[in-house]
Amino acid sequence: MSVGIQKDNRIRSFIDGEFSEPAEGKWLDNYEPATGESYSQVANSSSADVHNAVLAAEKACPTWSRLSVDERAGWLHKIADGIQSRLTELAIAESRDSGKPLKLALDMEIPRAVQNFRFFAGMITGSSTSAHDSPSGLNVTLEQPWGVGATISPWNLPLYLFTWKVAPALAAGNCLVAKPSEMTPLTAMMLGEICQEIGLPSGVLNIVQGAGGKTGQAIVEHPRIPAISFTGGTVTGAKIATTAAPHFKKVSLELGGKNPNLIFADCDFDKMLATTMRSSFQNQGQICLCGSRIYIERSLYPTFIDAFVERTKSWKVGDPNDESVNMGAVVSAAHQQKILAAIEQAKVDGAKILTGGEALKIPGRCANGWFVAPTIIENAGQACAANQSEIFGPVVTVQPFDGIDQAIELANGVQYGLSSTVWTTNLDRAMKVAREIQSGVVWINGWLIRDLRTPFGGMKNSGVGREGGLESLGFWQQKKNVCICR
Ligand code: NDP
Repeated sequence: MSVGIQKDNRIRSFIDGEFSEPAEGKWLDNYEPATGESYSQVANSSSADVHNAVLAAEKACPTWSRLSVDERAGWLHKIADGIQSRLTELAIAESRDSGKPLKLALDMEIPRAVQNFRFFAGMITGSSTSAHDSPSGLNVTLEQPWGVGATISPWNLPLYLFTWKVAPALAAGNCLVAKPSEMTPLTAMMLGEICQEIGLPSGVLNIVQGAGGKTGQAIVEHPRIPAISFTGGTVTGAKIATTAAPHFKKVSLELGGKNPNLIFADCDFDKMLATTMRSSFQNQGQICLCGSRIYIERSLYPTFIDAFVERTKSWKVGDPNDESVNMGAVVSAAHQQKILAAIEQAKVDGAKILTGGEALKIPGRCANGWFVAPTIIENAGQACAANQSEIFGPVVTVQPFDGIDQAIELANGVQYGLSSTVWTTNLDRAMKVAREIQSGVVWINGWLIRDLRTPFGGMKNSGVGREGGLESLGFWQQKKNVCICR
């Protein structure tokens, strides 16, 4: 099935309301991870294409930014309606492009893209500005868009994260140059089709396809893009920050994680185990919020390990189109090799593989796909790479701890600080951990519960700035104080 692909199997950039050829005529192969086969090509856009997108956004901006908030919210709802009406088609495309189970895309990720637009449509119409009165004057704070902004997003939750950035930027009155990952370009292209179908004014949303080091770099270097919202790896984030800093660009960085799960002996065991399966292996462990370091209170350790290993062995890996699978393929051959190399390194470092640890061959259609068995690593040691570096695959480490202080010390003993999960029925203990743990998000007795109004982002090397609710809107607005003097 060639869902969402233009007639010649080529995925073009969407610039100024039209799908356009890359200026240099360069294309990249686009693969289906579950089969390992190239099934389309994606434009590898150059700085000339990025510049055209900036010109289109600059042209559109004066009109777009002057629309009333109700009018802009109306457009966001129309985009949401368009996604909703193509939900199944988008989910099929997302699953094919990324290797994730179709069910996950259908039930969670594409509906979230709809929600992103509806949420920020509601938020912009409900927003207010502040005023400060004094005997010498009345100060009114204006919140104005930057004009042209850019978003750069990763492959793991393609449309979900792409729209999480695009929706607040447009709501706040900006026009955008937005780049999805070259590995998962399809649903972003389909979003371009939706914008065309609903007649979104040309140039408001420009979707530039291409490789990170080329197209992404050209976006970051462009002198007329003053604000960039990025989600991706910590190394790329550092590069973007370095390039952007001398130009005083405003940058939001949502980066990698190496998230701890702290499991205390008094937890609700069944709920914890079921959730820990998901927080370890959902989307093949390719979610920045996955808990990849699992620390278990020593008295519970043997019971937990027996149950966790047994459950992991029964986890079904296979064709993403099969409704009964728990896991599909990882995103690329290179990523599969990176994950397997990290497992080999753990063995060299003296760790024991309790289950998994290998590539899987799936018979039939997916025989050449990129699958990795869900893997549990024991005795890695806090200092070794398996506990320090983000693997971003279906791989977790397990380790016992003695007492709350050691649990917190282990949790904080990495360069990252994105999210954490605490399992205990003792509220005082849970709150002590929550206060002392170095992560931007803490879940107590749950995982991936997301309220879009809440601040979201990382501490330490997991990021700079916060997204979510007013934080996202605030990023895309410049505050200007106007004093009406008396
Ligand atoms: P990358 O950092 O490799 O890529 C992210 C995006 O940046 C992609 O669109 C990529 O393009 C682009 N890019 C790559 N190099 C450059 C460059 N020099 N200049 C500008 N853009 C560039 O991350 P991954 O795609 O591999 O995503 C996985 C990472 O994202 C993990 O570390 C994960 O933890 C993190 N992440 C963080 C989240 C958070 O909220 N904190 C959420 C989700 C993921 P291309 O892919 O085309 O090369």
